[in-house]
Amino acid sequence: TAHLLPDMAQKILAGDRRALARAITLVESGRADHRAQAAELLHELARSGRQALRIGLSGTPGVGKSTFIESFGMQLTAQGLKVAVLAVDPSSARSGGSILGDKTRMERLSRDPNAFIRPSPSQAHLGGVARRTREAVSLCEAAGFDVILIETVGVGQSETLVAEMTDLFILLMAPAGGDELQGVKRGIMEMADMILVNKADGDLKPAAMRTVSDYAGALRLLRKRPQDPEGFPKALPVSALEENGLQKAWEDMTTLAAWRRENGHFEARRAAQARHWFETEVREGLLARLSSDPAIRARMTELGDAVAAGNAAPAAAAQEMLARLGA
Ligand code: GDP
Repeated sequence: TAHLLPDMAQKILAGDRRALARAITLVESGRADHRAQAAELLHELARSGRQALRIGLSGTPGVGKSTFIESFGMQLTAQGLKVAVLAVDPSSARSGGSILGDKTRMERLSRDPNAFIRPSPSQAHLGGVARRTREAVSLCEAAGFDVILIETVGVGQSETLVAEMTDLFILLMAPAGGDELQGVKRGIMEMADMILVNKADGDLKPAAMRTVSDYAGALRLLRKRPQDPEGFPKALPVSALEENGLQKAWEDMTTLAAWRRENGHFEARRAAQARHWFETEVREGLLARLSSDPAIRARMTELGDAVAAGNAAPAAAAQEMLARLGA
C-alpha cells in the first residue's frame, strides 16, 4: 500500500472525482489504520495551497435548500466555477436516515461535470460528522473546487459547527406571515452574514418582501462586527424556483469575501478555525482513549465506584486518570 496514497493524492490534485469520492470514504472511516492514512493524505494535499470559498447554508426542512443549491450551483458552474456540495445532517447521525443530500435531490446539479455532491455520512455523533466534513472540505479544495457549499438543517448544534468551518454563513428563510421573525435564535442571527428569504415569487412575494425588511431591521439592531463592511450582514429576497436574486446574492457574497481578504479578516478567521480544529482533535483523541483502552476503562470504573462510595475525592481520582493518559 506504500504507493497507494501518493497515487490517490496525485489523482485528487488532477481533479479525479472517483479518487476524491474514495478519499472522502477514507476520511469517513473510524478505523485506526484508515485514520492514519487519512492524516497522511491530508498532510500531502495541504501543500497544494488551493483555496475554495467555503459557504455554509442553513435552513429548516422545506425552506428550499436543495432547490436553492441546485439553482445557485448551476449558475456558478455556468460561469465556469467548480462547485462541491457537502452536508452536515444531525438527523442522519441520530436515526441513520438522512433528510439532506440523498441522491434524488439536486438532479440537474448532480449531472453537471463541474459539480460534486456528497451526502452526509450517517455517523454516531455530530463530532464525527464535523471532522469528516472539515476533512472533506480540504479534499475538495485540493481537487480544485472554487466554491464549497456546506448545507445543514437548523437543528441543534449543526449550525454552529458549519459556521465554524466556513468563510461565509448564509441563513435561508421562508416568507413569514405578519411580522414574526420565525423564532430565529439570536445566536444564529449573530452568525449570519446574509439572510436570504426564499420563495419571493408568485403569491408569496409580498410576504417575502415584508420578511426581508423585518430581518434587515433585526440585523441592524445587532452589534456591529469588525469583519463586516458597511451594509453587512444583509437580508435579500430570492426565488430558487424562478432563479431570481441568485446572481445578486452571489455578487454580495464575493464582495464580502473580497473585503474580508483585503482587511485580514478572511485569513484570521481561517487561522482561528484551524487552531480550533487542532484543539478539538486533541481533546477528542483523549476522550477516545478514555473509552477505547480496556485498562483505562476498567480503572475509570473502579475510581468512579470509589468516588461514589466516598472512598476517594473526585478531584484526586481525576488527577490519577489524567496522569494515566499522560496529561
Ligand atoms: P429543503 O427541505 O430545504 O431542501 O427544501 P426543498 O428544496 O426540498 O423545497 C421544499 C419545497 O419548497 C418544494 O416543494 C419546492 O418546490 C419549494 N420551493 C423551493 N424553492 C422555492 C421557491 O423559490 N419558490 C417557491 N414558490 N417554492 C419553492
